[in-house]
Amino acid sequence: MFLDLDANATYACDEQIQVLIAQAMAQLGNPSSVHRGGQRARAAVEEAREGIRELVGALPGDQIVFTSGATEANNTVVDAATRMGSGSLVSTQIEHPSILAPLAREALRGRDVRLVAPQQSGEILPEALVSVLGSETALISVMMANNETGVCNPIIDIAQRAREHAPRALIHSDLSQVVGKQAISFSEMGIDIGTISGHKIGALAGVGALVLRHGVSIEPLVVGGSQELKLRGGTENVLGIISLGIASRLVRERITRRSAQMRAVRDRFELLVLKELSNCDINGMNQQRLPNTSNIFIQGVRGDDLVVALDLERILVSSGAACSSGKPEPSHVLLAMGQDEQRVRSTVRVSFRADQSEQDAERVAHTLVRIAKRMRDEERTVSHAA
Ligand code: PMP
Repeated sequence: MFLDLDANATYACDEQIQVLIAQAMAQLGNPSSVHRGGQRARAAVEEAREGIRELVGALPGDQIVFTSGATEANNTVVDAATRMGSGSLVSTQIEHPSILAPLAREALRGRDVRLVAPQQSGEILPEALVSVLGSETALISVMMANNETGVCNPIIDIAQRAREHAPRALIHSDLSQVVGKQAISFSEMGIDIGTISGHKIGALAGVGALVLRHGVSIEPLVVGGSQELKLRGGTENVLGIISLGIASRLVRERITRRSAQMRAVRDRFELLVLKELSNCDINGMNQQRLPNTSNIFIQGVRGDDLVVALDLERILVSSGAACSSGKPEPSHVLLAMGQDEQRVRSTVRVSFRADQSEQDAERVAHTLVRIAKRMRDEERTVSHAA
């Protein structure tokens, strides 16, 4: 049986959601059509919007704007802030490429872009952020939890301090990884805008949303249609949106249990690996972390080789973020944390789903330890022979 331990890349729809999505096919239509088919689709989209509002703890006046995913949502935020004036764009070195790439493009165009470094532990300190802010700052974007390490940033504190030092800035947080893994309250975070991604919570890929605090207005990135309150042109991805609404409701009902289950399983896994394998280390171990994520450095073992070897045992993990693995570059997140390239290349990420058990954790821990020991032995044999 396959054991998918790559939930941070894609949290594949479980059977219950698959059935509900199949039923939702009957509601498809163009929500802009005035006839009954259109109105049925419109109602389904609005129901999904409410589901997301409740899941993330947004207030009735806050807006949910559907996008094609977190990448588009993040691009929209950078684009909108860029248009808000000429002030600096501030973010962190550990953001997802969907923030870093549009920021890099703005920097090439001459914009003042400032990226704050994390602590060695992976955390972004409010003080580090505040030190680069100015009264002219146009954007502050700090992810709530990192997709590779799972390390969480103190967003409430960051938002509060940021607001004092940069009153004009749009304050954004990429919430993609945290939603579905622990309860959040958008209204209590103090941010202006948040990003979420469908396939990180068990909905379809290709859909996501921006959550905008009441009174915050932005320019759309995608223009040419008045959909989504004129904030995102184009006929809505009704099926994707419905799937996001369904996943939101199911996740919200179970969030406490899901978090506790993920944490118990992840902690069991880490305990076993640390006990059975020498010279390994969990990145961000003593930090506030997502309950499902384990980012492990295993000395003398190449992460990419371990991923392939585990795949042969039907265990799916990742040696970096999904978007960057498959490419030779080492993780920008771990490098930003001050790690050397050799260490970064000896790291794997294991990210659990909420429907996995402690037996699953034991299976992956024992298999990973066995393979890592074998790889180290092989490495020793080769270097002795040389
Ligand atoms: N932000 C973060 C933190 C992510 O982990 C991802 C997906 N790897 C994205 C944004 C992009 O999400 P999407 O696939 O929905 O575009």
